[in-house]
Amino acid sequence: TPAVALFTADLRLHDNPVLHAAGRGGAAVVPLFVVDEAIARAGFAVPNRAAFLADCLADLDAGLRQRGGRLVVRRGDVAEEVGEVVAETGARQVHIAAGVSGYATRREDRLRKALAGTGCELVVHEAVITAAPPGAVTPAGRDHFAVFTPYFRRWSAESQRKVLDAPRRVRVPEEVRSAEPPSAADLTGPGGGTPSPGLPRGGETVGRKLAGTWWRTGLQDYADRHDDLPGDATSRLSPYLHFGCLSATELVHRARTAGGAGAEAFVRQLAWRDFHHQVLAARPDAAHRNYRTRHDRWRAAPEEVAAWREGRTGYPIVDAAMRQLQHEGWMHNRGRLLVASFLTKTLYVDWRTGAEHFLSLLVDGDIPNNQLNWQWVAGTGTDTRPNRVLNPLLQASRFDPDGDYVRRWVPELADLEGAAVHQPWKLSGPDRARFDYPDPIVTLAEGHARFTRARGLDG
Ligand code: FAD
Repeated sequence: TPAVALFTADLRLHDNPVLHAAGRGGAAVVPLFVVDEAIARAGFAVPNRAAFLADCLADLDAGLRQRGGRLVVRRGDVAEEVGEVVAETGARQVHIAAGVSGYATRREDRLRKALAGTGCELVVHEAVITAAPPGAVTPAGRDHFAVFTPYFRRWSAESQRKVLDAPRRVRVPEEVRSAEPPSAADLTGPGGGTPSPGLPRGGETVGRKLAGTWWRTGLQDYADRHDDLPGDATSRLSPYLHFGCLSATELVHRARTAGGAGAEAFVRQLAWRDFHHQVLAARPDAAHRNYRTRHDRWRAAPEEVAAWREGRTGYPIVDAAMRQLQHEGWMHNRGRLLVASFLTKTLYVDWRTGAEHFLSLLVDGDIPNNQLNWQWVAGTGTDTRPNRVLNPLLQASRFDPDGDYVRRWVPELADLEGAAVHQPWKLSGPDRARFDYPDPIVTLAEGHARFTRARGLDG
């Protein structure tokens, strides 16, 4: 009898413990993906991630076909569909990757219930989505690390599981019913909408090509260049990690083999990803509630929030980053930090408002990394300096010193040369009037005074 490999956030053939275990010893496998209608109902199936996911599924199907198999696609309720596939095939095992979001843990519980009494076992695999299993790296007497540095020390000392090859052949029972791999439109939730024009293509094949280029040309300089906004010198592998087209374990392994300062810095960022997963695994409520319960009297400022979302705050560096998000469904990490600080510490608006907007566009948008990075910036999360504020002008002069990033994304200001592009309000009357670009919605002094008052730092 075949085993079911239920794909979730592990849409790959290489280094996939779920697929590997299901097909062990050449056994027949049902490589199953269920388009779970609960995800669309929850508003998570936004156009950018739906389009990327459609690419991932088409690529997975093509890869399985090259190996003599195919992807089996069902649509509906994930537990019901899995139950049906098990009944149709007589499968004795369903393999799945362990997840940490509330949705993933509920799915696991529901699958367990659906399979109870059928003689089919649910096998949950750790270290498929993250490099270290959440919960495996813990401080003495506690269930998770609340601070990154000691976590990273322990994480680095853990030994990793072995990297697995892609299967050479995959045998799929012929009689199993399947729909065609879904299109982007099929996967988009009820709100509809179209993907961002500069969205990257999804799938393991594209992801592995990108990673290949990254090892050859990007990794070495990463330590020096990862904050260079116009240089755009990060890996851009985050969406491939989010959908599991690439394995975090394999990336850590490759980087360690390469060695050097760039590789070390890159591995450290991958550890941040694991860090947030382990926080959320221990504290699932942190997806929506303050991880630390302080600072919860945020301002409601609908007009300022709209200006922030649309990239017309009057601060060119903030607006450039917000427009990159609109255009690409992705934003540079330095941009994410500074726009999030601007929303939560200068406008003093609830981090959840920002996190929700990010999730509506980010192709790599996920609950552990998005919500906990937002909390980190807002000072409600794991930052050990919760009251640090990123001044957008200082950020601009450090990370976009010549203004090239702003000119790329804010074309109204493209005629302003050098660093002058960061402060158009300083131009004299007639010069200022040439640019159809708003004045700052708030002065930094006002924002700062509000922040120190709200946090009781002004006494
Ligand atoms: P690289 O610099 O090449 O880093 C390599 C990999 O390390 C990334 O692909 C990512 O998987 C991981 N990584 C890097 N930085 C972080 C970090 N701070 N936290 C967790 N993982 C990290 N990342 C997401 O994957 N999904 C999100 O929804 C998300 N939301 C964010 C929201 C805010 C407010 C902030 C400040 C950061 C957020 N990040 C998120 C983290 C980070 O910005 C992105 O992972 C990174 O920009 C992706 O680009 P890259 O692949 O080129 O990164």
